[in-house]
Amino acid sequence: MKCLNCDCEKFEVKNIRFNPEIKGEEVEVVVPSFVCTKCQATLMDGEQMNVLRRSAADRYRKFHNLLTSEEIIKYRTMLGMSQMAFANYLKVGEASIKRWETYYVQDVVQDDHIRLKCDEAYAELNALEVHWKSHHPDIYSGNRSFCLELFKQAVCYLIGFAKSPLFLNKALFYADFKHFQLYGMSITGARYVHLDYGPCPDQYQNLYQLFLARKVLIPGGHHVLKSAEKPNLSVFSDSEKEILELIAKLAHIDGGKKLLKVSHEEEAYKKTEPLQLISYQLSRNIGI
Ligand SMILES: [Zn+2]
Repeated sequence: MKCLNCDCEKFEVKNIRFNPEIKGEEVEVVVPSFVCTKCQATLMDGEQMNVLRRSAADRYRKFHNLLTSEEIIKYRTMLGMSQMAFANYLKVGEASIKRWETYYVQDVVQDDHIRLKCDEAYAELNALEVHWKSHHPDIYSGNRSFCLELFKQAVCYLIGFAKSPLFLNKALFYADFKHFQLYGMSITGARYVHLDYGPCPDQYQNLYQLFLARKVLIPGGHHVLKSAEKPNLSVFSDSEKEILELIAKLAHIDGGKKLLKVSHEEEAYKKTEPLQLISYQLSRNIGI
């Protein structure tokens, strides 16, 4: 190997800063390259070039919240697939997989597609969103559209008092139904189902799984969950806050045991068939 600048044949490997352009944006990476010992000119072999291209692509991906080459490889190996099998699974050419796993940045639509086919929590949230969007506000949602952010904040707040899903579900039920009773609208837009162990938010298992996957909730041992984030009550109106605080106070006394017990006696629960959605119209006699 000869320096293109001065014909010197002595090189050493150094980490060098480069600013290549990806999709019209300059990114900065530091990667190993040969450097001429005499004039400091850089010279890369094929492997170093590949490292540079891949690092630059990943830099861009990280900045734009796209999956990195490593994350794409991780998904494929998690599914136990060859590049060919993975290409068939995603319905793209094998060449695309080879490029995405190295230096070619997938676009936003492709990125979404990969996540939908490989990330269980992402796919589940997508299914839930379709579920929520295809149901308009009605008497089963307390006259408002389900709002994941409001539901999340209500969960983060109430889990501090009703610490397991069993009790939390009842606390949420009372918060939403009590607010409907007084103001004609639920707090979170959640739908509730008549289950054996009381009224529960529809899809609650998927929702809590999602919060666990996103580290919004963390296991606290002994079937207890904890909120990893400080609840943000500013997303609620005054009346919503007031009701949430009322329910929290009730749950705080015994961890929600009483709420659990009385929820089975509620007309809203008793007048609904098993596995059916509970109408908010039945909230008029909510007993707390
Ligand atoms: Zn040189």
